[in-house]
Amino acid sequence: MPTNKAWTLASRPAAGVTEDNFKLVEREAPRPKDGEVLVKNLWLSLDPYMRFRMNDVKSYVPPVQIGEVMVGQTAGEVLESKHPGFKPGDKVLAGGWQLYSCMKGEELAKVDAGSYPLSYYLGALGMPGLTAYFGLKDIGAPKPGETVVVSAASGAVGSVVGQLARIAGCRAVGIAGGKAKCDYVVQELGFDACVDYKAGNLHRDLKEACPQGADVYFDNVAGEVLETMLRLMNLRSRIVACGRIAERDENYCHKNLSVFIANRIKMQGMIVFDWKERYPEGIRALAGYVAQGKLKTRESIAEGIESAPKAFIGMLKGQNFGKQLVKLA
Ligand code: NDP
Repeated sequence: MPTNKAWTLASRPAAGVTEDNFKLVEREAPRPKDGEVLVKNLWLSLDPYMRFRMNDVKSYVPPVQIGEVMVGQTAGEVLESKHPGFKPGDKVLAGGWQLYSCMKGEELAKVDAGSYPLSYYLGALGMPGLTAYFGLKDIGAPKPGETVVVSAASGAVGSVVGQLARIAGCRAVGIAGGKAKCDYVVQELGFDACVDYKAGNLHRDLKEACPQGADVYFDNVAGEVLETMLRLMNLRSRIVACGRIAERDENYCHKNLSVFIANRIKMQGMIVFDWKERYPEGIRALAGYVAQGKLKTRESIAEGIESAPKAFIGMLKGQNFGKQLVKLA
């Protein structure tokens, strides 16, 4: 059997994540037993939620235990199958920061990688794209002419949110870190405006970008950006509470909460798995927009399994530009 290389959790982060929190383990890939499938992973997705799974805190799923392989979605190819639903060569979504995954067939998802690059199923046509699609459609519920604001706007989720808002006939305003990302969001993705939250005038710049206020805020970051957005939310506006990357190491103390009552603002948290039954609908819609050239995507690619911890830490700090992936083969 081939040699597997897998990143395990060596220790929990004391404050920020460091490369010492991970350990690379090499051992022979297991032979699949009845009902199992051995997958050669070609791509690993790095996502902000992994940071929270490194803490010893009970959430909607259990944390990664010390010594366990780091959690993550991969896209790869079936090498050997003892499950009737899969055959060698099938393209599937599997898991773990590793070169080979041996999993039960029921834990894998087959993808039709004929029309789109396999890596898209970890980005615009995968979990981040579906998060944008269902969060915006079902919670944000934007109406034509409304203003939709999204943070982490050049990233995997945010870039899709803004483009879907445009497709829905809304004004799309992004928030991103730095001029290069803001320029990309407006010039390449077609947002109406993008505000650089690192420029130091967030409230003033957002007011200028949202002359009619905000009807939907798709919150990917929480923290100070959310606090500032609360001052711009319109009467009966909606906030999609999707992510809190700005609070990854420390909780932020929010103060502007009285606006919820005054403006009857609705804020709802989301976990994309709640829409599992409807993923085919979401993938169909997103793939259709990609095919029509209405949904563009950008990838930030690190090379080789060894690069995963560094790329992950960089992504948390905004060094990615688009969906962060690791190319494994
Ligand atoms: P991105 O590709 O957007 O990468 C993360 C980005 O976050 C960075 O590039 C950086 O962009 C931004 N960021 C980092 N720190 C800060 C900060 N202090 N303030 C503002 N922005 C910051 O990641 P994803 O698109 O994969 O995920 C976006 C969010 O969506 C995450 O919070 C994630 O946890 C959440 N999510 C939630 C899901 C759910 O079901 N609830 C499912 C999938 C994702 P910049 O350079 O612009 O600052």
